Amino acid sequence: MKPSVLIVDDSPAMRAFIRRVLELSGVVMSECYQAADGGEALAVLRRSPVDLVLTDINMPGINGEELVKLIHADEQLNSIPVVVVSTDATEQRVAALLRLGARGYVTKPFHPETLRADLEKVMEAADDRRCRG
Ligand SMILES: [Mg+2]
Repeated sequence: MKPSVLIVDDSPAMRAFIRRVLELSGVVMSECYQAADGGEALAVLRRSPVDLVLTDINMPGINGEELVKLIHADEQLNSIPVVVVSTDATEQRVAALLRLGARGYVTKPFHPETLRADLEKVMEAADDRRCRG
């Protein structure tokens, strides 16, 4: 399956970089959407089917933490796995984000191989959840 992916980050350079790393890691995407903050991300999610969301935490407007919460609370969207991509990987922060509904956490800077392995795990787990209903 070729996943459609949404990359959320307020830095266009970081979005382009993440996209490039995904491509280098061998993730073949059917679509790669981008959004600059949580508000834009929700707009994309409302109109396009997405298999995976990668989001930064620190963004103006709706930040990554709020985006995780909003997706988790939305019946239409809460089956979409959200992986947080951030430099801020203190244990408490990661634990808090996982409690809010994030399915994974990737620390910048990351390696293409580890990123791919992490994302595959998250997407497989999401498929299992859907199958179990
Ligand atoms: Mg940021």
